[in-house]
Parts: sequence; structure tokens; C-alpha cells
Amino acid sequence: MQNGIVTVSYIGATILFILALGGLSHQETSRRGNLYGMLGMGIAVLATVLGIVSSNHHVMLAGMLIGGAIGLVLAKKVAMTQMPELVAILHSLVGLAAVLVGFVNFLEHNPDITGVNRTIHDVETYLGILIGAITLSGSVVAFGKLSGKIGGKPVLLPGRHWMNLTLLAVVIYSGYLFVGQSAAGGGLSPLIVMTVLSLLFGIHMVMAIGGADMPVVVSMLNSYSGWAAAATGFMLNNDLLIVVGALVGSSGAILSYIMCRAMNRKFLAVIAGGFGTGGGTVAATEQTGEVTSVDAEEAAALLLDAKEVMIVPGYGMAVAQAQHTVNEITRALRERGVNVRFGIHPVAGRMPGHMNVLLAEARVPYDIVFEMDEVNEDFPEVDVSMVIGANDIVNPSAQEEPNSPIAGMPVLEVWKGRTTIVLKRSMASGYAGVDNPLFYKENTRMLFGDAKTSLDSVLKHLQG
Ligand code: NDP
Repeated sequence: MQNGIVTVSYIGATILFILALGGLSHQETSRRGNLYGMLGMGIAVLATVLGIVSSNHHVMLAGMLIGGAIGLVLAKKVAMTQMPELVAILHSLVGLAAVLVGFVNFLEHNPDITGVNRTIHDVETYLGILIGAITLSGSVVAFGKLSGKIGGKPVLLPGRHWMNLTLLAVVIYSGYLFVGQSAAGGGLSPLIVMTVLSLLFGIHMVMAIGGADMPVVVSMLNSYSGWAAAATGFMLNNDLLIVVGALVGSSGAILSYIMCRAMNRKFLAVIAGGFGTGGGTVAATEQTGEVTSVDAEEAAALLLDAKEVMIVPGYGMAVAQAQHTVNEITRALRERGVNVRFGIHPVAGRMPGHMNVLLAEARVPYDIVFEMDEVNEDFPEVDVSMVIGANDIVNPSAQEEPNSPIAGMPVLEVWKGRTTIVLKRSMASGYAGVDNPLFYKENTRMLFGDAKTSLDSVLKHLQG
């Protein structure tokens, strides 16, 4: 393939990726956005395979077939609730690729690159491996935390800030040694030292972050994986990889900012670790009191009696796969003249936009799905709030208990409505591991059981 065609294909793919990002910013256009993204990636891969790769096509084809087959099986098998951990482990692969490309780049030492160009080349390699290694180990730990294989509680080593500073200083010094020695054909030892330290830093950074702050970590690692891809692009001299990496890196950074704002956290403070610990000194108050439970029939009666209903979905709705029944209940209530709205917390579920995806899949109309800020002041006028498998995002202790691990995080103020029905299986706490005083409030009714089973039963009573 001629160079000109590759360039045009790359420009076309870049435009499609930008359109994809634009499309993904609204639910109505997100399917189209995905299609643009897939088309762009198809063009990018074809142009690279046919136009850039000049030898070893059979090795590459074998890699693509094996990787593609694994991807296909995983995509078909993975449950919606496992998506966040799948995304985390995929980020780790981008980091691994950056590390491997960096080492190959270094080991294939090209003696023709000299002077300033050598320094620039070495800095690119060094930074690429650095970002890649942090992304790799950080994403593996995030995978462990999101899948429950590693506990959500932050691991705070004594003197951790000093440890981070020391790591940073050693990494900078190793970089200085590496650039100096590489010109003379050496530099492997400082490169290995830096790689090991970066891997340790990635582990330490994510281990120190509390459960409730994981959304920031997920979006941050998303951003890092983009910068790792961009660094790989620099090492391979591939413009498209640089542009796409920068797009992913910057959109991930914007998402991290949005997540921080949604959780009322400062980005640097989250990264430094220690949130989700209640200051590390005082545990949150243990909740006790009377709980009022209802059955499906009573819940249906409460809903039928209401004029204003707010549905607040959380992670449990995803676990129960209850979204289709939720849609049918919404339809049944609306047909009876009840005004039904959805209040979506920015960190509900286990990944950004998790609830919106599920509700869109069940075909809940977009115009009744609202963000937290759009509805949070309306709760005093709400007759019934139905909290479906949500916990942390409706926990009043975020406002009432300064020592709570989730203190300061904005939450949906369901308790200000007339009645709240909470659907969950037990009195267990949510992801952040904090007890929830909402369950003990006078106007709260607990409907215990799997959300899908409970809602199926509520629907029967609504229809009967
Ligand atoms: P939570 O994890 O706080 O609570 C979910 C609740 O759902 C649990 O208390 C559980 O209670 C209940 N549940 C689980 N399965 C079922 C079921 N089958 N039927 C009924 N109920 C069920 O979820 P939230 O959505 O309220 O909050 C999200 C949390 O996840 C926040 O702490 C957030 O910081 C964190 N997080 C969010 C990410 C994101 O990007 N959105 C990423 C990583 C973490 P029980 O066991 O009693 O049924």
C-alpha cells in the first residue's frame, strides 16, 4: 500500500475516533458513536497491516487470530456485572504492550541515532516503559479490587508519602543514568530498576485507594492506558497511535475530573491515597435500630398510591439483571398516570455510565432518566422513591457523619421523600463497607430479596 493511502486512512480513522467520542457523550447517539469507533479501528488496523508492516505477516496474523479469538470468547462470556473488571484487565494489556515495545525498542539499539535524537529517543523509551509499567500493575490490582479478589479496604503503609517521593527520586536518577549510558550502548540496569519500581508504585498507588474512590482509579487508569498507547506511538513512530493514545488519555483525564467532582474529592488527594479510611483514625458509627420490611404486595400498593415516583438504581440492579422488569414497572405506572423518573448517581454501579447502559438496554425512555444534580432537590415532592440494589449512593452518613469513609460524597437524598422502598437481599453494606442509616429511618420500607424476583412479584401485583 502506498504511503499516501496509509496517511489518508489514518486521517479518516482519526476523524472517526473523534466522532466516536462525540457520539458516546449522549445516550441517544452512543450506538452510532460505537459504530464510528469500530469502523475507525477497522480502517486503522487494515492500513497498518497492509501499509506499514513489511515482514513477518504470518506471525502477526497468528497473533491477531489468537488475540481476536480470546477477545471474542471473553466478550460473549462476560456478564454485564463483570465489565468493569474486564475493562481494568484490558487496560493492563495496553500497559504491558508499552513495556514490551519499550524494551524491544531499547534492545534493538540503532547506532545511527545519535546526539539530540538519541536523547529524545531514550527519553521516549524511558517514559513509555514508566507509564506502561504503572498502568500494568495498577490495572491488575484494580481488576483484583473490582472483582472482589482483593479486599476494598485501602492498604496504607506507614510513611507512604515519603516512600512515593523516594521512588520518584530514584526513578528520575535512574532516567539520568539511563540516558547517559544508552548513548554508549548500555543502560539496561537503570531501565530494569525503573521498571521494577514503576510496577511497585502502580501496586502501591491502587492498593492505597479506598473502595468508594475506585471510580476515580478506573477512569485514571483509563487515562494512563491512553498515554501508554501514545508513548508506544512515539517509540514506533506511528502518528495514529500517538493521536488515538492522546484522545484516550485526555478523555480519561476529563472523566477522572468529572468523577472527582461527583465525589467531592481532590484528584491529587485520591491518588495520594487515604480516602475511604475515615481519616484513618475513627471508624464510622455502627447502625442499629428497627427496620420495617414490606412484601411485594405492600410495595405495589405504595407505588399505586403515588403520583411522583423516583427510581434509584444501583449495582444490585446490575447483579440481579432487573432492568427489564424495571422498565415494565415504569410502563405500568406511567399508564396509570404516575410520574416516574430515574435519579442516576454518577458513581452508581461499578463503572461510569453503568446504570445508563442497563436502562438503555431495557429501553427505558431517555427523557425520564436524570442525573443526580437534576433531581436531588425534588425529593421532598416525591411520594415513593424505589432504591433498587443501591447502597453507598443513598447513604445519609455521607452528609451526617464527618468521620465516615464516604463523608463529603454527594448522595441522592431519598430519605427526604414521603416513603422510600429499598430492595436488597440483606442488611449488608455497600462497596465502601459502610453501614447505612437509611434502612432504619421511619419512612423507609425494606423489600428483602433478589431485586429481579422482588420486582417480578411487584409487577404482578401492579397488573393484577
Ligand atoms: P453498592 O455496592 O454500594 O451497593 C449495592 C447493593 O446492592 C448492596 O448493598 C447489595 O446488598 C445489593 N445487591 C447486590 N446484589 C443484589 C441483588 N441480586 N438483588 C438486590 N440487591 C442486591 O452500590 P451503589 O451502586 O449504591 O454504589 C456504587 C459503589 O461502587 C460506590 O461506593 C462507588 O464508589 C463504587 N464504585 C463505582 C464505580 C463506578 O465507576 N461507578 C467503580 C468502582 C467502584 P445485599 O447484598 O444485601 O443484597
